[in-house]
Amino acid sequence: GYRKGGYHAVRPGDQFAAGRYVAQRKLGWGNFSTVWLAFDIQTQKFVALKIQKSAPEFAQAAFHEIEFLSEITKRDPSNCKCIIQLIDHFKHIGPNGQHICLAFEFLGDSLLKLVQYNRYKGIGFGQVREICRSILIGLDYLHRELGIIHSDLKLENILLVSTIDPSKDPIRSGLKPNLERPEGNPNGEVILNPIEKKLKMRARRVLAKLAEKRKSAAEYARAERSLDGIDMTCKIVDFGNACWADKQFTDFIQTRQYRAPEVILGAGYSFPVDMWSFACIAFELATGEMLFTPKEGQGYSEDEDHLALMMEVLGKIPKKIATMGTKSKEYFDRHGDLKRIRRLKFSSIERVLVDKYKISESDAREFAEFLCPLFDFAPEKRPTAAQCLQHKWLQCDDSKTCGTLNISDAKNASVACSPATTASSYSKSI
Ligand code: ADP
Ligand code: MG
Repeated sequence: GYRKGGYHAVRPGDQFAAGRYVAQRKLGWGNFSTVWLAFDIQTQKFVALKIQKSAPEFAQAAFHEIEFLSEITKRDPSNCKCIIQLIDHFKHIGPNGQHICLAFEFLGDSLLKLVQYNRYKGIGFGQVREICRSILIGLDYLHRELGIIHSDLKLENILLVSTIDPSKDPIRSGLKPNLERPEGNPNGEVILNPIEKKLKMRARRVLAKLAEKRKSAAEYARAERSLDGIDMTCKIVDFGNACWADKQFTDFIQTRQYRAPEVILGAGYSFPVDMWSFACIAFELATGEMLFTPKEGQGYSEDEDHLALMMEVLGKIPKKIATMGTKSKEYFDRHGDLKRIRRLKFSSIERVLVDKYKISESDAREFAEFLCPLFDFAPEKRPTAAQCLQHKWLQCDDSKTCGTLNISDAKNASVACSPATTASSYSKSI
């Protein structure tokens, strides 16, 4: 936490980069950093300030992220590729050491929040399509133009773009630049006497209790406010784990539930791992639940359970693929069957969508037609982002229903698409 080598403690009003940025409120955090909303005095805009922990390994990770973000931002001057833009980076010295800071354009809530606001019920196909288009534009840019594998795509790492400009419309967006610096010593630390300290602590406890009670209602209101002004484009963030396709650092990538089979098997990887995660995200947006949530069980590992879950909805992994990784022998016997999990309950993605999630037969069929090729166990057979963008599931004109999301109607905002005309809609574009 907040100790030597760790996070930098920030309070509203704190200044960064010789006064250019003024901290407003905390937006989020990760294992490596805290992220603050800050006001950029120079451009008069809000930014997201990512303040890295100070120990050398965290600084190294930040430099790694800057390397990728600089290239991404440099090659996308019109800022239309659905990837976060880096504005600035600098060092900040605090009591816990020297912190690398990254200033980003300010974005809205993550897709995880969006799914939570919809009470994990799925967000309706109109919005799923809009979001999928954005992610695919981003992936096509990363893969084809830059040769970058993101390798940690998940709901938390995709943020909605708010059409509200907080600096022009501070009241509606609930943001007002706070340029006041609280009284205190030059380090920004407020000096309180013991009585003041006690009173403040008590007030904080009372406020925390009140906040707890109102949390769900307030969160919901905030969601409604933040979504009212979102055009459903979104951007990919968090390049802390990115790599160049021709220069990989580790065999162990991706967050568990979004991990591709070739990574689990130790069979080498490339751009298709992002396409696998993308398909997991699309499923989760449509249903509100993750497709694969493996668990360790009696006598088998989380990895083996994961492979079993994949096979239950996608069919058996072809023996050739199952046995070709450096870790294949841990899970598969020489016939290509799992060693410890013998009985699988098969059900197609289409059936899961209809039976478990009560999606209409026609919506489920069209969505499954888009998804299933992305879940090919053979990575080289998965469609590329460019090919996905040509798929007819994304072509249907749903501009009317995709405009603004009304939370309560999101579930009903299904879209009329023309019925399938060919068996495989990827065949035309491949
Ligand atoms: P980490 O590498 O530590 O996971 P991220 O870059 O994913 O850091 O940022 C952590 C969180 O901070 C995100 O999940 C999000 O909630 C918030 N955040 C990050 N960048 C922005 C941004 N540009 N605008 C708004 N919020 C952001
Ligand atoms: Mg993250």
